[in-house]
Amino acid sequence: MSLVYEGKAKRLFTTEDPNELLMEFKDDATAFNGAKKESFAQKGALNKRLSLHLYELLERDSVATHFVRDDTENTLIVKRVEIIPIEVVIRNVVAGSLVKRTGLAEGHKLRQPIIECYYKSDELGDPMINDEHIRELALARGDEMEKIKRAALKINRTLTNFFAKAGLTLVDFKLEFGRLYPNRHNIVLADEISPDTCRLWDTETGKKLDKDRFRQDLGDLVEGYSEVLTRVENALAS
Ligand code: UDP
Repeated sequence: MSLVYEGKAKRLFTTEDPNELLMEFKDDATAFNGAKKESFAQKGALNKRLSLHLYELLERDSVATHFVRDDTENTLIVKRVEIIPIEVVIRNVVAGSLVKRTGLAEGHKLRQPIIECYYKSDELGDPMINDEHIRELALARGDEMEKIKRAALKINRTLTNFFAKAGLTLVDFKLEFGRLYPNRHNIVLADEISPDTCRLWDTETGKKLDKDRFRQDLGDLVEGYSEVLTRVENALAS
């Protein structure tokens, strides 16, 4: 088993199958492009379980993902993909950088979901880009971007409805997509979906249960993630 990639919150290793990788969820949390960093016992295992439930939910709704099967406490087996270097953010409620960009108040409900694209480049600080920048940089073809945006909106519908059952508001979230090996024709959802990459608020009280607890020092991160997991598992069981 050799390390293929190490990110801020995940590691990917080779397996015996050349088209599959082992994805390990780390306990590390980072914010502000890595400037703030801390490790939290159990975060990796919580995110693994949450991601697993969400992949299964999406697959049942016919969304193609890189998920293959469950593995250990903090690992999953995933298909090998060529990651498209675009972070796709979907927003339902105003928060974070959208407050700064629009002047709209945090918590303002958007009339329709907003999709934004960011260029995945640590060197450049992940700048926001549009379809024309994507075309110029040849990050993805036009038909691939159409598929990605359609998939992103479908994922948003599935997750928003599901989290509502769990008493949670899906404020916004970040997705990454990849081209499936070996032929790289099919685009699938890659990377995790977890409270590291979503904003989730308690629908009743507005309490933040996601990584903003760490970014904004709002309280125990693991406590928030555990509450999300408990509610998700209760909603799945009901
Ligand atoms: N996000 C992420 N990784 C990033 C940037 C953003 O997972 O590198 C997620 C973030 O958790 C939030 C959404 O994308 O759910 C929108 O983030 P925003 O643009 O508001 O940026 P931030 O406030 O995190 O700087």
